[in-house]
Amino acid sequence: MKKFKTESKRMLDLVINSIYTNREIFLRELLSNASDAIDKLYYKGLTEGLTGLTRDDFYIKIDLDKDNRTLKITDNGIGMTSEELENNLGTIAKSGSFDFKNGNENKDIDIIGQFGVGFYSAFMVAKRVEVLSKAYGNDKAYLWASEGADGYEVTESQKETCGTEITLYLKDDEGEESYKEFVEEYKIKDLVKKYSDYIRYPIKMLVTTYEYDDKEDCCDECHDETCEHEHEHEHKHSEPKEVKKEQVLNSMTPVWRKTKAELKENEYENFYKDEFYDAQNPLKCIYTSAEGAVDYKALLFIPKTIPYNYYSKNYEKGLKLYTAGVMITDKCSDLLPDYFNFVKGIVDSEVTLNISRETVQQNRQLKAIKNSLEKKIKSELLSMQKNERDKYEEFFDNFGLSLKYGIYSSFGMNNDNLVDLIMFKSAKSGKYVTFQEYVDNMSEGQKSIYYATGKTVEACKALPKLEAVLDKGYDVLCLTEDVDEFCVKMLVKYKDFEFKSYETEDVGSDVGAEIDKDVETAVMEVLKDKIVKVKLSQNLKNHPVSLTSEGDLSIEMEKVFAKMPNVNQPMKAKKVLEINANHPVYAKLSELCNSDKEKFNDLVSVLFDQACLISGLEVEDITGLTDKIFNLIV
Ligand code: ADP
Repeated sequence: MKKFKTESKRMLDLVINSIYTNREIFLRELLSNASDAIDKLYYKGLTEGLTGLTRDDFYIKIDLDKDNRTLKITDNGIGMTSEELENNLGTIAKSGSFDFKNGNENKDIDIIGQFGVGFYSAFMVAKRVEVLSKAYGNDKAYLWASEGADGYEVTESQKETCGTEITLYLKDDEGEESYKEFVEEYKIKDLVKKYSDYIRYPIKMLVTTYEYDDKEDCCDECHDETCEHEHEHEHKHSEPKEVKKEQVLNSMTPVWRKTKAELKENEYENFYKDEFYDAQNPLKCIYTSAEGAVDYKALLFIPKTIPYNYYSKNYEKGLKLYTAGVMITDKCSDLLPDYFNFVKGIVDSEVTLNISRETVQQNRQLKAIKNSLEKKIKSELLSMQKNERDKYEEFFDNFGLSLKYGIYSSFGMNNDNLVDLIMFKSAKSGKYVTFQEYVDNMSEGQKSIYYATGKTVEACKALPKLEAVLDKGYDVLCLTEDVDEFCVKMLVKYKDFEFKSYETEDVGSDVGAEIDKDVETAVMEVLKDKIVKVKLSQNLKNHPVSLTSEGDLSIEMEKVFAKMPNVNQPMKAKKVLEINANHPVYAKLSELCNSDKEKFNDLVSVLFDQACLISGLEVEDITGLTDKIFNLIV
């Protein structure tokens, strides 16, 4: 027995216990090695013209033996001489593949290996590993065998063709630690699909299928090979016969590497549905690639509907990251900004990987890809907004909230990136408008962009005074979601135009409506710090009262703050009670102010509570309110 060459015990221990977070990764590593070995022979053929082999001659095979708990991976690649077995597998952290790639002028080679540790991940699941290999052009085959840190043996052996056959003898199951799933067909199929679907050579395996012999006994409906006899004629079938059939487990060519001519109809859409478990086609497919400072190919999708868990804590943003056809991370969150968290897809790029090849080493590379993707997504959305308006509105109904949060939560840092993507409904037309469209349609002399807040567009339109602003020819944006007002406050301006509440616009008709001083003082005494001002208004039509606010914090914002959990003293708007100058209630107030203070006080409290209710605010003392109404009636 030979000892491993490096500080092997410690190194092997590191591989088995520390480098990988996930032991199932061993299969990805061994399949990558097999693919590398085939690549090497294939390129040897291309450059030296000796092998006479074409791409179609190559394959990787997986054999499972449940009885003996072994898993075998065979490739017909370049194989290893006894020296190579010694050097590559006897020296941990020696990568023959890295040397090959480095020594080769063709930098396009998809060689995956680079660290020289992947092979040893087999020991995470195997107690013994045997590597039977015959190098291309050699007569002799050799067997490398090891049971872990103690060392390895290389002996001469027999093998007909060149290539490598790796046999893993799975560890024994111990309590919760079970390894038997690695000889189960379903598990291996899953793992190949998950990590190695785009290995460029076929990965074959015998897969159990079921067949029936007695078709002639069956009714017409059963004369079909795919019949799984779930219908009422079931009794006419014999027992199904187990048949093992060789299947190719991987799809080999990733859809994003196909040329336009190679792409089948709806192939992107079908890929999206399979890969991201959506029953519907995506709203938009975006294919993009870059070369130069950043190098990548990406296939991105915008879902048609909101993913079921989108607003839950379980939703994770991110793109699948592939390098050389091998999946590195399932959800690489560094590739997308939060406000584009609805985008699904994959990125294929030669990023520098961490030794476990589960994470990327340099964030700089990811950042560059992220920036480039972000620009692309934005430009695609803008072009959708311009050329496919209905589609964009559908998108915005679903994911506009995320864009608005993007502005609010970054304290304005993302304003430039996002402002053109935002839309609000217009009070004039009831339709979505962008800020640019709003500005393009502004009236002569209009200096600000006006907004109103309410639960729906209709609720906004019903607000006191809003009609007067519309009558002036000014459109008003309807802010109907909690985040909306925070979002426009964060934007401050669009181009030269400030965002302003419609309430701040002087519509002229308040002039001449001066509240009686005694009434004013008496009202302020009753409501004390609940309001900052009481005034008369000519714009309330039939409504007796209304609440508006002064300063930056609006009543809508107060409501949002009130909903936040764990806030002891939520922020309050500076409220103004407006009384309809033309409503009989004002005359009643004036009368009671001098004659019946008690009734006056009740009426003021009731009017204030009513104004709160109209604004959607909670009334502090409901019982008090009903008592007062009763007192006023009798
Ligand atoms: P890496 O793949 O990162 O180079 P590994 O530890 O997985 O590291 O493998 C070490 C080396 O062993 C490889 O670089 C390669 O030269 C050789 N090797 C591993 N598996 C095979 C195989 N199936 N056929 C030929 N050579 C192999």
